[in-house]
Parts: sequence; structure tokens; C-alpha cells
Amino acid sequence: MKIVDVTKNFCSNHLEAYAKVRDAYSLWYAAYGNLTAEDFLKRLFELPETGDRAKEVVQFLSRYPERWK
Ligand SMILES: [Zn+2]
Repeated sequence: MKIVDVTKNFCSNHLEAYAKVRDAYSLWYAAYGNLTAEDFLKRLFELPETGDRAKEVVQFLSRYPERWK
């Protein structure tokens, strides 16, 4: 996954959430293999332990998939 510059769009709280979402994707990708970003975002959003900020990040990345390559 390429890191696209999203830092301009997020405040520090959301940047932290974004970093966690990215870390989770790396872990899940390693665990499941061939996990698409779309599937990942959908599953992460549905997890009860996903916090509000992380969910906002997920919604952002779902809406702007070009930021998530
Ligand atoms: Zn924020």
C-alpha cells in the first residue's frame, strides 16, 4: 500500500487514528492475505472496538479511495 499524503486533511487526533487504521491493515493483510482495502474498511467499521475517530477515518477512506492506494 502506498502512503498518500493525507496529513493535510486530518488534525492530530484523526492522524493518530489514521496511523492505527494503517497498522491494522498491515496486520490484517498479513493474516488474511489478499485482503482488499474495501473489505478491510468494511470489516473494521463493523467491529465494536473500532472507535469513533477510526470510523471517521474509515468513512473518509471509503469515500476517497484514491487516498488509499
Ligand atoms: Zn480530527
